[in-house]
Amino acid sequence: MDERSLCYDHLPMEWVGDWSGRRAAITPERPAVFEPESGRRLTFREMDGRACRTAGFLVHGLGLAKGDRVCLLTRNRLEALDLYFACGKTGVILAPLSYRLAARELNDLVRRIAPRALFHEACFGDLAAALVLPEGATRIEIDDGRGRYLEEVEAASAADENRPLAPADPFLYVHTGGTTATPKICVVPHRQMVWNAVDILATSGGALGPQRELLTFPLFHIGGWNTVTPVYYAGGYTVLMRAFDPAAALELIEAEGITHFGAVEAMLQFIAADPGFPGADLTTLESITTAGAPCAARTMQPFLERGVPVHQSYGLTEAGPSNFMYVPGDAPLDESRTYGDTIGTSMFHTDYRIVDPESLEPVPAGETGVLLMRSPHNFDGYLDEPERTEKALLDGGWVYSGDLGRRDGYGLVRIVGRADNMFISGGENVSPEEVEQVLLAHPAVERAAVVGIDDARWGWVPAAAVVVRDGAEVTAEEIRRWAAGELAKFKVPRRVVLADDLPLTGAGKIDRNTVKEQIMNGGRQDG
Ligand code: AMP
Repeated sequence: MDERSLCYDHLPMEWVGDWSGRRAAITPERPAVFEPESGRRLTFREMDGRACRTAGFLVHGLGLAKGDRVCLLTRNRLEALDLYFACGKTGVILAPLSYRLAARELNDLVRRIAPRALFHEACFGDLAAALVLPEGATRIEIDDGRGRYLEEVEAASAADENRPLAPADPFLYVHTGGTTATPKICVVPHRQMVWNAVDILATSGGALGPQRELLTFPLFHIGGWNTVTPVYYAGGYTVLMRAFDPAAALELIEAEGITHFGAVEAMLQFIAADPGFPGADLTTLESITTAGAPCAARTMQPFLERGVPVHQSYGLTEAGPSNFMYVPGDAPLDESRTYGDTIGTSMFHTDYRIVDPESLEPVPAGETGVLLMRSPHNFDGYLDEPERTEKALLDGGWVYSGDLGRRDGYGLVRIVGRADNMFISGGENVSPEEVEQVLLAHPAVERAAVVGIDDARWGWVPAAAVVVRDGAEVTAEEIRRWAAGELAKFKVPRRVVLADDLPLTGAGKIDRNTVKEQIMNGGRQDG
């Protein structure tokens, strides 16, 4: 036996990835998942039956094997969970795609992922048809009726296709908004999903896991899977929201006795502003965890007034996705009021450092620096991008977050900004460089600078200052429309101003603070 196969991380074991089989063996008749749209309610045994048949379809129907990729373009629905569990069993890699992206953006991802199959929901038929798949790849439509997919899966053998897998084997390819012009595709090994689930259960002292969870996060981000997985681990109950809807969320909390849900700040704002909020019964709700973006005290307030504590968690796809959480003591509501602005401290199995961005040396407590994290739930790099991986995964296994943080005297950490230009709009990462590349592709655009400007609802929204080529005629609105054809809606600049020039820093880089002022002042001609 060589050293690699002796290492636990590389030793294939039968439990790795078999979330549905293991849970079904332990609590087969317990309710596992409810899908409100279809009224389908399934036990862990039934969920595993579906996963086995879906795995049978992948292996025998499509001829897929360990390491092959399948793309998923659906909202949150049972078939997405079936594929997650089936990929877990077989070693096929699941690559969920965001339906918020434009066809051009998705095609870039699909080209890099090179899937052997694309599973898409019928409502995304046009978007799916615009995607260019590798030769020989299969397109499979999932609809709410009895489509071909369902027939084939039902006809597949229910024999378990579970294969021994190593914790280091890849499980998911997850794309996230980046800090450069091209989106990142994170390689997420089984180890990451196992360990992050363990870390959530351990850190919360078992409070998170066996709950009745309302899944609000979309399953094209890792946060969605990282909600399902620990709940599944602990035998909890998941109510799948096909897509986030505040009124439906309130109804489900009441009807299903939801005890916990995770949300980005904007979702909490929508829920609190919903006409149903004042009359909704929230008595079963034990807590809410926010993630993905900062959450302001004023957003938490309506929930605290109703007796529901709200705490922040923090992390990134590359390192967690959960790395920090605030774990309350005996007075959760008071603690939400006092410590709502902190992300708590690092989770049980996460080490962290706050370092100087240049020297990477730790800064003293109370000073601001970049957060580095290290844990068994580190990702395994960006797909086919060793140089980019090297910048994110530093010596000693530290993941460079790019987030600026500060630790107080109690050991609580606050996120105070970013070391780079990335900003977050409604929980979605936006890379100014990526948007700038798209604006620069417009024939009339000479130079472009994109920044995030404050927005009460989304936290930040993109805005652009653009210098037009000599002799070219274009309006700010035309540039906006151009961007809308190329980019996901959340990346399209809300405001475009035409400028005579872009301000530069002494080092010759775009001075984004001054660009922001330029945009707020309307530039040469406001769009
Ligand atoms: P993603 O990898 O897409 O989940 O995005 C991770 C990024 O979201 C982090 O690097 C942070 O910039 C941001 N983020 C996540 N949680 C928080 C939080 N509680 N406060 C501030 N920013 C957050």
